[in-house]
Amino acid sequence: MPELPDIFVLARSMDQALCGRSITGVKIYQPKCLNLPEEEFCRAVIGHAFHRARHRGKWVIADLNRDWTLAFNLGMGGEVRLHGATEIPNPQRERVVLYLDNGQQLWTHFWWFGHVHLIPLGELNVHPLLARLGPEPLVADFTPQKLEEMLRGKRGAIKKYLLDQSFIAGIGNVYIQDILWYARLHPLRTVNTLDQADIERLHNAIQYVLSEGIRWGGGPREYDVWGNEGHYAEHLQVGYQTGKPCPACGTVIEELRVGSTTSYICPCCQKLGKEKNE
Ligand SMILES: [Zn+2]
Repeated sequence: MPELPDIFVLARSMDQALCGRSITGVKIYQPKCLNLPEEEFCRAVIGHAFHRARHRGKWVIADLNRDWTLAFNLGMGGEVRLHGATEIPNPQRERVVLYLDNGQQLWTHFWWFGHVHLIPLGELNVHPLLARLGPEPLVADFTPQKLEEMLRGKRGAIKKYLLDQSFIAGIGNVYIQDILWYARLHPLRTVNTLDQADIERLHNAIQYVLSEGIRWGGGPREYDVWGNEGHYAEHLQVGYQTGKPCPACGTVIEELRVGSTTSYICPCCQKLGKEKNE
């Protein structure tokens, strides 16, 4: 499932590839992924040009000239990919195809839980799904103080909060592994036991790991709009590294079930409880 770095890379490539391109036609293979009736959606987007694309949490937000924003949520195993004029989409696989004025096609695919929503420009903050998203972790006003305020009065495991899109937007079960490792925090550590130093390390780890994900072009099996795969898998520290040595201390990395997700931890660097690891 794509996370913030993967979506950032995809949105950046869409911005480069699509800016100024007009939509000349639309083919809908899965009407339920839309938020409008099919005819209304098609009528609204045809003739409009892409103006810019960016990310918001795990969504790609693509503004069209004039009145609309297209918001893509790729759910599980999703892609937005450019194809040549003569390629023929598989109706069983693709969900929405946009035809562009240079002959190219933009295919959107996801296995399930995906959305292609058309939102009036400037109304993202009242969209029922986008309005629920928590703060963006890579913006200037996401500071250690802000994270401390967000955690104040909360209880329960840190991992649960970091994966909650309404608490903070964009983190999922790939990047969170290295975030908690860099922060030297066990996934089950309860947030009310974090001191200021813990929160500062966590803040730095969030920004560092997400930036590294972007730097390496996204995670495994995540692609930009041209189909280039991300390389972050080669730079994972503890995530999906069961049985390998911890890069910091050499202890064998362990796998741990936490709720419905798997965690990968160094049992020495990420102790549960208040022991200091420095
Ligand atoms: Zn370690």
